Parts: sequence; structure tokens; C-alpha cells
Amino acid sequence: TSIEERQESSKGANPRVGLRKSMTQIPQALASLSLKDKVIVVTGGNSGIGKSIVEVVGSLGAKVVIDYRSHPERTEALIEEVGELGGQSIGVQADVSKLENLQHLIDTAVQTFGKIDVMVNNAGIETRTSILDTSPEDFDKVMNVNLRGVFFATQYAAKQMISQGSGGRIINISSVHEDWPMPNNTPYCVAKGGVRMLTRTAGVELAGKGVSIVNVGPGAVATPINDSTMNDPDLLAKLNAAIPIGRMAQPAEIASVVAFLAGNGASYMTATSVFADGGIMMSSPGL
Ligand code: NAD
Repeated sequence: TSIEERQESSKGANPRVGLRKSMTQIPQALASLSLKDKVIVVTGGNSGIGKSIVEVVGSLGAKVVIDYRSHPERTEALIEEVGELGGQSIGVQADVSKLENLQHLIDTAVQTFGKIDVMVNNAGIETRTSILDTSPEDFDKVMNVNLRGVFFATQYAAKQMISQGSGGRIINISSVHEDWPMPNNTPYCVAKGGVRMLTRTAGVELAGKGVSIVNVGPGAVATPINDSTMNDPDLLAKLNAAIPIGRMAQPAEIASVVAFLAGNGASYMTATSVFADGGIMMSSPGL
């Protein structure tokens, strides 16, 4: 039909019919934000961004499995806090760079809560070393946590999600540095760049099997990983000046993005990255 014909046929149509139809979809959209009874595993979950993710998804009704490497007392305090927020959580000590630990994490989550709906690969480290003086040990350390750990956590979680029949979602806390260089932090950037391509490739491979994969790429977030920057006023001022929003993010500003992605409202997203970076990747001096 031509534009004219379509305009003609829509003449006299009641606009309220379309409005009513869209209004009936509102409860569905709101429900898609709930995480009630979703089982969510968060690696590196007792500090920084991971801790905030645990708090936010726990408050939204998820059953949370908190992976941690050290500081069991922080995990205990967090489990208590999640309980006070009305949620339910357990802690599992597992080093994501060790495959048997990763399998133990997945198995414990399933034994406790029966399934895994969302796997959040958040654990990460950095060495802040230049390409010129990164030792093989530095390189391996970063790769083993930030890339190998994410790769096999994705494999193990995806196998579980496929075998349980309901599928699931994997959310990798990547970084703006999956795409944007950070001189003098080369192994970190290489690993996060690997996670970018892992998400794209595995996301395409697993889409037909009910498993979706999305990266969240934060900019600079006020967490312990950035202590050295935050404790140096000159460096912090330089960083803030480079961020169009003018400040670092609070961990909850990343956790809220993850919470949305963990829900059914993100059901059509896979094999892609979402950035919450205060605009830093697009920063321009206007020249
Ligand atoms: P953080 O240091 O507070 O948290 C990292 C967590 O990972 C810690 O709890 C640590 O114990 C855990 N971890 C490290 N190695 C582990 C291992 N082998 N097994 C299990 N857990 C391990 O820092 P954060 O800023 O909250 O970092 C979380 C994620 O966010 C990281 O992947 C980081 O690369 C990413 N990120 C952070 C920023 C930022 O500016 N803070 C920006 C972009 C991306």
C-alpha cells in the first residue's frame, strides 16, 4: 500500500486503541525488572562492584551465590546484609583462576538453589605494567583471572544452563579497556579485549541454545582496585577532567546496569557490550 492509502485507511482510527494496547504491556515490562527467584552467581563478590551487584540483585529478590577469594568475614557480613535487605545468599570460596575451584562454585550453586540463571563474571585484577616491563608472571596472573577464568566460567555455566533446560545469561564485567587503550596497563587491556571477543563469539554460538552473553564495560569506578588513583589528588583531578560527567562512578551505578541485564527485560540482548563510563570513551577536546 502507498503512504497515501495507509494515511487514508488510518483516518478515523481511534488513537486510544493503540494506547490501550501499549498500556496492557506495562505490567509485563515492570515484571521484567524483577529478579525474584533468579539464581545469580557473582565472582569476586565481596568487594567493590561485585559487592554492590550482590546487594542490588539480592534486594530485587535474587538468590545470590557470592564467590570470593579472600576475607571470609566480609562475605559473612555481606550475607547478613543481603538478609536484612530481604534477600537470600550463600558464600563460596573459589579462586576463578583454578578450574577445579570454578567447577566447585557452579556445583555448589546448583546443589543449593537447583539451577543457575545468571553468571556474573566480575572478579578481576590488574598489574598496571607497561608492555616493556611486564614479566611473564605478571602476564599469566592477569590472563588467568581476567580471561582464562572468564572463559571457563562461561563454559561451565553455559553447560549447566543448557542441561537445566531453561537456559540463562552470562554477564561479564569487562571494562572500557576491552576497546579503549590504557597505556601502562597492557596485560589488563589485552585480557579485557579477549573478553570482548569471547562474548561476541560465544554469544553467537550459544544464542540458539538459550544462553545469552553480555559485557558491561565500566569506566572509572570508586573501588579498591583504584585506590592508588583515588589517593593521589593530582591524578584524581586529571582523571575527573577526562570524564565528560566529571567524576568516577559509584559501584551502585554499575550494579544497577547489571541488575537490568540480569532480568527478562534484556531478553533480546546478546553478543554485545554495554558501557557505563560517564562518556569517557567519547571524550573529545573539541578540536
Ligand atoms: P575490586 O578489587 O574491589 O574487586 C575485584 C574482586 O575480584 C575482589 O573481590 C578480589 O578478591 C576478586 N578476585 C581477584 N582475583 C580473584 C580470583 N582469582 N578468584 C576470585 N576472586 C578474585 O575491584 P572492582 O573495581 O570492584 O573490580 C571488579 C571488576 O570490575 C574487575 O573485573 C575490574 O576489571 C572491573 N572494572 C573495574 C573498574 C574500576 O574502575 N573499578 C573499571 C572497569 C572495569
